[in-house]
Amino acid sequence: MSISFKDQVAIVTGAGQGLGRAYALELARRGARVVVNDPGPARDGSGHSDAAASVVEEIRQAGGEGMADAGDVSQYDQMEAMVARAKEAWGGVHVLVNNAGVLRDRTFARMDPADFEFVVRVNLLGSAFATKAAWETMREQNYGRILMTSSSTGLGGNFGQANYGAAKAGVWGLARTLRLEGAKYGIRVNTLMPTAGTRMTADIFPEDAYRAFNPAKVVPAAIFLVSKDAPTDAVLAAGGGLFQRAWVTMNDGL
Ligand code: ADP
Repeated sequence: MSISFKDQVAIVTGAGQGLGRAYALELARRGARVVVNDPGPARDGSGHSDAAASVVEEIRQAGGEGMADAGDVSQYDQMEAMVARAKEAWGGVHVLVNNAGVLRDRTFARMDPADFEFVVRVNLLGSAFATKAAWETMREQNYGRILMTSSSTGLGGNFGQANYGAAKAGVWGLARTLRLEGAKYGIRVNTLMPTAGTRMTADIFPEDAYRAFNPAKVVPAAIFLVSKDAPTDAVLAAGGGLFQRAWVTMNDGL
């Protein structure tokens, strides 16, 4: 692919590991100056401290430019601060990849209302807040590429993921309205539905077929969807087929 992000500034949320890290590295490799956002372990319990800083180090070692940001996507003021830092350092924001996400899987019968709220806050409100924070800048620039991360669960549902499915369906709805409102200002909004092959699915699926984390299945799709020649209002499923977690009901793991 000859897609270049030279002279562009990109923000990737939740980029301390997994797919977000892979997006950040690839955008930097293609010339973007990248804000690597990830608050680390405090917010999602994943135990990855200083994750964003170490991805920035990887970017630098490969000859690119990056900046770590520890903002929590579910806190609007922190997203505003993140965008302000990017603008101050590099003058704009051209690409936003909304990748930050959390899971709190339980069957609905056992799901705590707080788990419902947390998952919707980070996945749905977080995407809206990061986007809102960058929106005015993109409008002024008359250029913006925004990627929403939905999920096959948002489309087809999944056992144990009422909270996540609701949030991910919402993310898609958000994208569909924003591309209408953004079109006039050169802002294009697309939606990626990573299915199998992400770190998240590797964590929750015992089957070997799903365990292999393979960003190569997903990253090229994301790169295309935030490129200068990107479509708008596209929905792209990448990384494997749609599936439902039937084993949960058999194992009663939740
Ligand atoms: P996948 O690789 O499947 O996208 P991960 O769990 O590896 O899944 O990635 C999700 C990322 O989102 C993690 O790095 C996590 O730290 C990050 N994250 C979780 N909550 C927030 C939040 N509130 N703000 C920003 N990033 C977050």
